[in-house]
Amino acid sequence: MRVLLLAGTIEARAVAAGLAALPGVEATASLAGATRAPAGYAVPLRTGGFGGAEGLANWLRAEAAGAVIDATHPFAARMAANAARASAAVGVPRLKLLRPAWPLRAGWRVVASLDDAAEALPRGARVLLTSGRDWAPFARRVDCRFWLRSIEPVDLPGQFEPILARPPFAMADEVALMRRLGITHLVSKNSGGDPAKLDAAESLAVSVLMVARGAPPAGPVVASPEEALAWVVRLVASRSQGVAGGA
Ligand code: NAP
Repeated sequence: MRVLLLAGTIEARAVAAGLAALPGVEATASLAGATRAPAGYAVPLRTGGFGGAEGLANWLRAEAAGAVIDATHPFAARMAANAARASAAVGVPRLKLLRPAWPLRAGWRVVASLDDAAEALPRGARVLLTSGRDWAPFARRVDCRFWLRSIEPVDLPGQFEPILARPPFAMADEVALMRRLGITHLVSKNSGGDPAKLDAAESLAVSVLMVARGAPPAGPVVASPEEALAWVVRLVASRSQGVAGGA
């Protein structure tokens, strides 16, 4: 069975490793192409957009895909919606792998968007942006200072300074970083996963602006790579039973 794994997360790499070891499964992992040197995947990799839901549907047909695992980031909403539409159009089973969101902590300010986070910052804030490469919503806040953490270099205007780093980050290092830069505010999407930066912010009484997640497309959702692999195993088994039954 051909499986398309929509990737770009730590969990996707774990799923790829599991799929590589599954008999009867031939998987391809797909990346958007944002990271120039992606960390290793145990299955063949394709890179770049498909050309919307229609392009993805064409890819699924051309490759005779039997399943789609959408293990993209919880905030990769466009890809998730395209995967849902394309799989439904082609009639290919799709599973969303979504790591659990961080539970709300006392003192967090939950916002709906990066624009709202930018709006909420007080004058003079010293802000660690860990919300991805999108600095634009904060550009008008020339009364604040920003440190933007990213894996790849980003072209930034004057009030921003880059921090190039690849996760995971240890809590002690997060504390040291926030102390050294005199950070007063942390901006994060509610991606879930390693809470080191949140623990560090809490221990230093740094204010947290947390961007809430949207709901995933309707359909089956699991929270771990193990559950995603179990779903594939069940699918392979039901297909081979179907073939045996039909023979
Ligand atoms: P997005 O806004 O949902 O998707 C934008 C477009 O990028 C999609 O329409 C699709 O292009 C292409 N794309 C996205 N993921 C793809 C994949 N795995 N394989 C092939 N094409 C893909 O996505 P995003 O938020 O820019 O995220 C892009 C990638 O970075 C994803 O793989 C995601 O897992 C990863 N990532 C995102 C975040 C985040 O905060 N958003 C954080 C960490 C990692 P077409 O329409 O042309 O197919």
